[in-house]
Amino acid sequence: MKQTKIFDAVDRANELGFSSYDELIIGFSRMVVQKLKLTGLNIQAEKMKLWNKAIYEQAEPAAAYINGGRWLAKCPVCSNIEHVTPLHPYLFCHECTNEDIRQAARPVLFPQSEEIKKIEEALLKNDLFLPDELGKLYKDINTTDLARLAQPAPGYSRLDWSFS
Ligand SMILES: [Zn+2]
Repeated sequence: MKQTKIFDAVDRANELGFSSYDELIIGFSRMVVQKLKLTGLNIQAEKMKLWNKAIYEQAEPAAAYINGGRWLAKCPVCSNIEHVTPLHPYLFCHECTNEDIRQAARPVLFPQSEEIKKIEEALLKNDLFLPDELGKLYKDINTTDLARLAQPAPGYSRLDWSFS
């Protein structure tokens, strides 16, 4: 099997039923709050802060990378990993809620768009397969997880890339 595109935060938003990346950022926080409340962690739930919808361009940026066919970035403050997208190069971390910049989003460094195209095209040529036990679950796993779990066929590489 081949992956048809490198999955990004917009794909992740669609998978979770959100209509945009911005809605994913806020909606995911709400999902976390709901989960905390359900488990009786009300104080933690109330402490959860939402993205303030601003982007603080001067903040320390996060570098985008591709891991297992997905665009990701690591929060430079707490090392939590989030899905990102070159279409909207900013990051709100759902772990530390970007407390250091008062809930603004921070910039994400991506390669130039021509470069992104080349990187993605090269990676998508790789043939992948799912180990047997996962092949059976195929229909129950979402596409970003599928990308993460797929393994390179003999002679091919994983769908990984990062700034060197
Ligand atoms: Zn963080």
